[in-house]
Amino acid sequence: MKLISDYFGCNVFDDKVMKERLSEETYELLKRTIQHGRSLNLSVANAVANAMKEWAIELGATHYTHWFQPLTGITAEKHDSFISPDKNGNVIMEFSGKELIKGESDASSFPSGGLRATFEARGYTAWDATSYAFIKDGVLCIPTAFCSYSGDALDNKTPLLRSMEAINRQAMRVLKLFGNENVTSIKTTVGPEQEYFLVDKEAFNQRKDLIYTGRTLFGANPPKGQELEDHYFGVIKPRVQAFMKDLNEELWKLGVLAKTEHNEAAPAQHELAPIFTTTNIAADHNQLMMESMQKIAKKHDLVCLLHEKPFKGVNGSGKHNNWSISTNTGVNLLEPGDTPSENAQFLLFLCSVIKAVDEYQDLLRVSVASAGNDHRLGAHEAPPAVVSIFLGTELTEILESIETDTPYGAKEKELLRVGVHTMPKFPKDTTDRNRTSPFAFTNNKFEFRMLGSAASVSAPNTILNTAVAEVLKQFADRLENAENFETALHDLIKETITNHKRIIFNGNGYDDAWIKEAEGRGLLNLKTTPDALPHFVKEKNVKLFTEHKVFTEREIYSRYDILLQNYCKILNIEGKTMVDMAKKDILPAVSEYSQTLANTILSKKGVSKHLDCSYETEVLEQISTLTASAYKHVKELEKALFLCKKGNDATEKAFFYKDEVLPVMVGLRKDVDELETLVSSNYWPIPTYGDLLFGV
Ligand code: ADP
Ligand code: MG
Repeated sequence: MKLISDYFGCNVFDDKVMKERLSEETYELLKRTIQHGRSLNLSVANAVANAMKEWAIELGATHYTHWFQPLTGITAEKHDSFISPDKNGNVIMEFSGKELIKGESDASSFPSGGLRATFEARGYTAWDATSYAFIKDGVLCIPTAFCSYSGDALDNKTPLLRSMEAINRQAMRVLKLFGNENVTSIKTTVGPEQEYFLVDKEAFNQRKDLIYTGRTLFGANPPKGQELEDHYFGVIKPRVQAFMKDLNEELWKLGVLAKTEHNEAAPAQHELAPIFTTTNIAADHNQLMMESMQKIAKKHDLVCLLHEKPFKGVNGSGKHNNWSISTNTGVNLLEPGDTPSENAQFLLFLCSVIKAVDEYQDLLRVSVASAGNDHRLGAHEAPPAVVSIFLGTELTEILESIETDTPYGAKEKELLRVGVHTMPKFPKDTTDRNRTSPFAFTNNKFEFRMLGSAASVSAPNTILNTAVAEVLKQFADRLENAENFETALHDLIKETITNHKRIIFNGNGYDDAWIKEAEGRGLLNLKTTPDALPHFVKEKNVKLFTEHKVFTEREIYSRYDILLQNYCKILNIEGKTMVDMAKKDILPAVSEYSQTLANTILSKKGVSKHLDCSYETEVLEQISTLTASAYKHVKELEKALFLCKKGNDATEKAFFYKDEVLPVMVGLRKDVDELETLVSSNYWPIPTYGDLLFGV
């Protein structure tokens, strides 16, 4: 039997391979570049490229590609073979340092949100040396950032890397204040839990809605859904097990730490969680995970659905983003400590997250906004659209006692002075019980649960890093100038709790009463993508991004435009798909069935006018009424889609899709789903929810 440890990372040009294949000098220079983000000089790059090429060819690779993450949400690659003609007309295999560190790419076919109109169409990709190169399907993939020639970021990775630098700068200032002489850098860490559905390929191929939009636009609920709660953690079916086995092997070879797999709440729904790692690598790995899931599913005659809400009536899929901050000496800054000083440091970092989440709740909401995720957030199965933090009772009580200068706990006599006392230990397990919170503290990390399953984790982490960086900057500014550090620290923590405790909520986030209360607390409830997106370009947010050099103003507006356009495009495709399915497949089938019923009535009457035709007549009547209503909705939908084309303003357009197109889609679906319950299975033209959810 092959041991995992024998092949884990075998397709990765990782530290071990580098050490083996590079000269000591080159290795040291490369390591320094990786650790300190310096640029690589060309002779080192040439040596690395050559070693990489030799290694890749030995493993059967023929091509290389700069692998990047444009604003389509998925990854992009353009393959170049290593071959190059020599003087004698033979081919040799070549790969230069220049080709490794920088690639040219035509940016004109990727979303640029107007950046393209004013600037050159060309873009370039630059090696992110902190993320290892790897081999995928015979191609050496070099993880890269993607920018325009004028330096504007055109991808998800560039701002993420910039935000990691921003939080590193500010956190280091704070850490200096607490001593920490041996810490030279911090990194944010992320472990994204990925949910997905698996359906049978043959059934999938018969559904235009799944093919074009990734979700079902029609479909009546089957007699059984998830109400028996028998799927969650249930026994994994053999076909799914075989898929998971292949998937794990593929991911392990790519150095992805795939760890926990289980069935999720909905039938046909599953989850895979990796062990956490540095944020930009976690983002790369999550993309690889999603890509591998889709590829390997096909090999098993399955299709992996990553959409946030593929089915109405059962849970949608999310991606829990576990996030923390780690020093290069291996200390988790969100881990409560053992000494008064460690505790104070922990409380300060905790407070920085509390303040950041409160002040930038709008941006966190923006970072998870998409047409698909709109069907999930606030739908009583996923966190609401209101951002709040769960801390657990123990930690909340500790913060309260600091805020009000009252003793914590029954036995404690003394007041809890930050920096003087150790925090009382709280039992670890009790912190992880609230699954309805959008942003939950779980032992030593925060779990941001609003992310949709399909999106890259880059945007939410870019925002989280930048918002926390800003708060740490304010904290450092204040503490660096304090006369008495201990007093200033205590006051700062106290003040932060007082000013931002409104964001802390330990109750049931799915409860309607909470939404009311949240409004009373002044928290935002940005229900849909068009409601959320305009907050992206608010003055305070533009200031945040530009001050921390995460986005330029131009980049912010270009992204805003892309997000709005994307929302409109998705709704347009969904609307058109519904019209197409209704007109070409569903209504004709219903009409045929009506004819059968009518013929039956006529022939029965022909035999004897006393024969009871109540079944046929009643069903025919119901079907006719619903068909007329469905047809009316089809025409309305066509008209609304036509009208959408007119407007120019992207924000207005997005609202038009939400307010004028979506409701008609809902109306049409209602008619069709009811028709499905009346029409004979022999006539229904597409696989049902039963077929899709229970067919594997
Ligand atoms: P649950 O489903 O209970 O939330 P899981 O074990 O499925 O728990 O997922 C927890 C995730 O959190 C894993 O990906 C894990 O690696 C990650 N994680 C643990 N510690 C940290 C940390 N310090 N920073 C980021 N992620 C972390
Ligand atoms: Mg979780």
